[in-house]
Amino acid sequence: MFTVNAYAAPSATGPLVPTSIERRDVGPHDVLIEIKFAGICHSDIHTVRGDWGPQHYPLAPGHEIAGIVTEVGTAVTKHAVGDRVGVGCMVNSCRECVHCQAGEEQYCLAGNTGTYGAPDRDGTITQGGYSTHVVVTEDFVLRIPAGLELDVAAPLLCAGITTFSPLNHWGAGPGKKVAIVGLGGLGHMAVKIAAAMGAEVTVLSQTLNKHDDGIKLGADHFHATSDPETFTKLAGSFDLIINTVSAAIDINAYLQLLTLNGALVNVGAPAEPLPVQAFSLITGRRSFAGSMIGGIRETQDMLDFCAKHGIGSEIEVIRPEQINDAYERVLASDVRYRFVIDTATL
Ligand code: NAP
Ligand code: ZN
Ligand code: ZN
Repeated sequence: MFTVNAYAAPSATGPLVPTSIERRDVGPHDVLIEIKFAGICHSDIHTVRGDWGPQHYPLAPGHEIAGIVTEVGTAVTKHAVGDRVGVGCMVNSCRECVHCQAGEEQYCLAGNTGTYGAPDRDGTITQGGYSTHVVVTEDFVLRIPAGLELDVAAPLLCAGITTFSPLNHWGAGPGKKVAIVGLGGLGHMAVKIAAAMGAEVTVLSQTLNKHDDGIKLGADHFHATSDPETFTKLAGSFDLIINTVSAAIDINAYLQLLTLNGALVNVGAPAEPLPVQAFSLITGRRSFAGSMIGGIRETQDMLDFCAKHGIGSEIEVIRPEQINDAYERVLASDVRYRFVIDTATL
C-alpha cells in the first residue's frame, strides 16, 4: 500500500477536504495512473450526500479520470508507461457472467466494482479520482486517442459513455428525432454525440437561458419546459428522448412527446421515484427505459468516435479547493457544462 493526496467527503453533510488515501501496490495486471484531470459528475454529489443510500466515509469521489500511465505490472499487455489513459465508473467486474462475457460489464450479475465507495475484490473500499494516482486492473483502463486533450476527455468517461450508449442502442441517426432533457454535463454530451450520429436534435431545458449554447453544441431546436406550450407544440414528435435530469420530473408529460413506438430512456438518477401512468405508455406503444453507463468495449468505441468527430466536453477547469463551490453550482444547474479538477495542486 502507498498513500496519495486526495479530496474527500468526511460525511454526508460536511464539505470535501484535503486528505490522503491508500492505494494498493501495483499487482501483475495493474496499471498505476498519474491522474491529471477528474470531472465532477452529479453522481458524485448524489453519492457523497447519501441520496442513494449510506456510504463509507471518508469518501473520495471521481469517476471521470484522465491521466498518464507511470507504472505497469509484470503481466500487463494493454498499456505502457507514458500512455494517455482514462478510467470511468467501474474498475472491475466478475468477468464470468453472461453480461460480462457480452462486454456489458456495467450490468455484471455479481455487481460491477464502482470506481469509488464500492467494496473492491480484495475487500477494501474503492476511492475515486479526486486524487493524484490510482491503481486499476488493465482491462478497465481505456486508451485516450491522440487528438483528444486529457482535460476535455475526462468527462467522456462518464457523461460521454452514459449518453453514447443509449443513443447507440436505440438507433439515433439520420432520420431520427431525438430530444435531450436537461442541458448539464450529460445533456451537453448527448447533444454533441446525437448530432454527430446524424439525428435531428432538440434540447428541452428548464428555460431558454442556454439556448445559444445548445444550438452551438449541435442542437437543431431548443425549447423551455417551463412553458406549457412546449408540451402541446411537441406532442407526438420524438423517436427517442434521453432524460438526463438529476431531479424527479413528470415523466408522463414527456412520454406524450413520443411518436408511436418511441422510447424515453432515463439516465438521470434522482433519489425519488418516477411514477408512470399506464395510459402514457399504452396509448402509443411507448417504452420507458433506463440505461447505465456502458461496457468497456463500448466506452473505447465512444472515445474513438469522439476523437474522430472532434468531440470533447465543454469544461471549466478548477483547482481542488473550488470543489465545494462547484458542487453548489452543479446543484443550481449553473454548470457550462462540466467542472474538471486539475489535480496538479492536490
Ligand atoms: P447536471 O450537470 O447537474 O445536469 C442536470 C441538468 O438537469 C441540469 O443542468 C438542468 O438542465 C436539469 N435539471 C436539474 N434540476 C432540474 C429540475 N429540478 N427540473 C428540471 N430539470 C432540472 O448533472 P449530470 O452530471 O449531467 O447528471 C445528471 C443525472 O444523471 C444525475 O442524476 C446523475 O446521477 C445521473 N447519471 C446517471 C448515469 C447512468 O449511468 N445512468 C451516469 C452518470 C450520471 P437545464 O438547466 O437545461 O434544465
Ligand atoms: Zn458519472
Ligand atoms: Zn459479471
